[in-house]
Amino acid sequence: MRILIKGAGVTGLTAAYALARRGLQVEVSERCALPGPGASHCAGGMLAPWCEGETAPDRVVEAGKLSIDWWTDVLPHLVRRNGTLVVAPARDTQELERFANRTSHFKWLGEDEIARLEPALSGRFRRGLFFPGEAHLDPRSALAGLYEKLLEHGVTFHFNAPEHPEAGFSKVVDCTGKTAIRSGSGLRGVRGEMLHLRTPDIRLSRPVRLLHPRFPLYVVPQSNRRFMVGATMIESENEGAISARSLMELLNAAYALHPAFGEAEVLETASGIRPAYADNIPAAHGTGKHISINGMYRHGYLMAPALAEELAEWLVQSHHALEAAQ
Ligand SMILES: Cc1cc2nc3c(=O)[nH]c(=O)nc-3n(C[C@H](O)[C@H](O)[C@H](O)COP(=O)(O)OP(=O)(O)OC[C@H]3O[C@@H](n4cnc5c(N)ncnc54)[C@H](O)[C@@H]3O)c2cc1C
Repeated sequence: MRILIKGAGVTGLTAAYALARRGLQVEVSERCALPGPGASHCAGGMLAPWCEGETAPDRVVEAGKLSIDWWTDVLPHLVRRNGTLVVAPARDTQELERFANRTSHFKWLGEDEIARLEPALSGRFRRGLFFPGEAHLDPRSALAGLYEKLLEHGVTFHFNAPEHPEAGFSKVVDCTGKTAIRSGSGLRGVRGEMLHLRTPDIRLSRPVRLLHPRFPLYVVPQSNRRFMVGATMIESENEGAISARSLMELLNAAYALHPAFGEAEVLETASGIRPAYADNIPAAHGTGKHISINGMYRHGYLMAPALAEELAEWLVQSHHALEAAQ
């Protein structure tokens, strides 16, 4: 069975890996010159099923739990299983109660416990929620790591190939993210803006979410004293540059978390379009030659492994059924 995967974002690369690992013959076409130039490049890399459960349904929470083990199995050196800390500015502490009422698998922390977990935040927040089972990874390193693994498995890549021919492939798996947003696809775009800061003055061991009445703000520690600060949630398919308002809100959030962020270098600002279905649940569609995995919304890193494994299992089983019938 020869399979073409279109799109080398996190969805396409995880699908390619799940298939290649089962010995299927996989080729990946990518519109751009490198793997992962789309929304996957902008992500925070949080693997936070229980926090996401605040607004996401059980399907996302359950699939998300599996993804932590999946990433740990595939790229063990990249996954940090240090949990997630959730705090709120003094004026918004009722937001913590609201968040707690809508989630599970957390512990309430007092000021001293927060300081023990994250010494940099000592004395800054009186209460917080700790989700010990959650994890995070550096998304760009994860994309690069998957790409390397796929090459080792003999997967062929076709870059700068937006219209790669489909002849000769028994299955074509469309993982083209926002490119698939068009009338009739059922997809819409949710723009997410983010920035990267660098400072040697703060050390965090885990993503910290700062509850905010309008959208969830978070700071994710990455390598080399780099911090990803995200992310806006704007119903729009327009990528464009980050707006001044969003930049102010993200910087304010970082500053509210720790004033030393005020002295940080701004390394990068960017925006990505999260493709989403009406129910915001990532899904695979199609049973014939053409299959799509899309609508990854806020959950690309969290849910792509589960969808990839489901697809691979289904393809292997249908292949065996076909062979048995012949
Ligand atoms: C600011 C921000 C923060 C986020 N944080 C997180 C997070 O912490 N955790 C999490 O789980 N998720 C997060 N997400 C969501 C996650 O990034 C997305 O759900 C995910 O990246 C979508 O991946 P994808 O592979 O489906 O799409 P993309 O990454 O957009 O990949 C699609 C690929 O298809 C290629 N392509 C397009 N058309 C064609 C064609 N015709 N032929 C071949 N290739 C084509 C594109 O060039 C691109 O490389 C975040 C998103 C944003 C914007």
